Amino acid sequence: MTKVLECGTLVPGCTWRGEAATEDELLAKAAVHAQEAHGMEVTPELAEKVRGAIHDQRA
Ligand SMILES: [Zn+2]
Repeated sequence: MTKVLECGTLVPGCTWRGEAATEDELLAKAAVHAQEAHGMEVTPELAEKVRGAIHDQRA
C-alpha cells in the first residue's frame, strides 16, 4: 500500500505531497522537504508528528 504524506497537515499552507512504498522511505523524503522548503531540522519529536500524519493512499 502506498504511503502518502501531505505537508499541509503539519505546515498549514504547504501543498507538498509525498508518496513512497514504505513509511521509512516517506519519512526520508519528508525530512529532505522539511529542510529545503521550511529550514526545519527533523528532531525525533517532529519525526513522530510526521509519522502520525502519514496515511495509506486512498483507492
Ligand atoms: Zn512543506
